[in-house]
Amino acid sequence: MQYEGVLTKMQTEIVDEVQYYLVWKKDFVNLNQLIGKKISINFLKFECLNCGLEKKIFRQGYCYDCWSSIPSAGDWIMRPELSKAHLDEEDRDLEFEKRAQLQPHVVYLANSSDVKVGVTRKSQIPTRWIDQGAHEAIEIVEVPNRYLAGITEVALKDHVSDKTNWRKMLTNEIVDLNLAEEREKLKDFIPEEVQQYYLRNQTELEIKFPVKEFPKKIKTLNLAKNPFFEGVLSGIKGQYLIFENGTVFNVRGHEGFVVDLKVLS
Ligand SMILES: [Zn+2]
Repeated sequence: MQYEGVLTKMQTEIVDEVQYYLVWKKDFVNLNQLIGKKISINFLKFECLNCGLEKKIFRQGYCYDCWSSIPSAGDWIMRPELSKAHLDEEDRDLEFEKRAQLQPHVVYLANSSDVKVGVTRKSQIPTRWIDQGAHEAIEIVEVPNRYLAGITEVALKDHVSDKTNWRKMLTNEIVDLNLAEEREKLKDFIPEEVQQYYLRNQTELEIKFPVKEFPKKIKTLNLAKNPFFEGVLSGIKGQYLIFENGTVFNVRGHEGFVVDLKVLS
């Protein structure tokens, strides 16, 4: 089997274990079926996910020119507290920002290495948690726009991390926590105008990833530096492919890379 196309982040669904798909222009691959098989990945060229041109990828699958101009890469994406559509104020494209920001958002706790707080559109649950490799997660508040979620996250960051330690996530140095208790501890730090949106009766979601064996030590594959790799796939967690020799490949970190993927055995 052979596939060729531009990488975008893996699509997922929860069916007992998470199912992972690489979606190409004409077909898709269920990556779970490749676990235990030897595959090769060959980097061919860049293809910006916005303009489609063969330009070096800067961030999020975009070339520098697109990344610095298109509305879906504004600062409020990474820093939700900078959202301004609720004030009718434009960053790059007000209509786009209204559609993206003025919809239900959730502030959550996710445990992928340590407990962290995060923000996502409500429609992105549980996708966002899977992408982070969280083995458990729980909602804290559901608010009507991105700004309110952003200021809640900022307030809670003083009391809980907002970062994932992806090495620990991939080597599976994890602990099971009672996230309902963890979020209860944070309740008083939620900003006053958001208190009314506290979700009272949430239970945590447990997520199982398809990994046969976790590596003890990991090394990362960077296709821009090493354009060819082959190895036996031993599992998938977060947006990472994990190989038998401890190599891990961040698929999302390679959006906009055109590759040739072969299943060898
Ligand atoms: Zn571009």
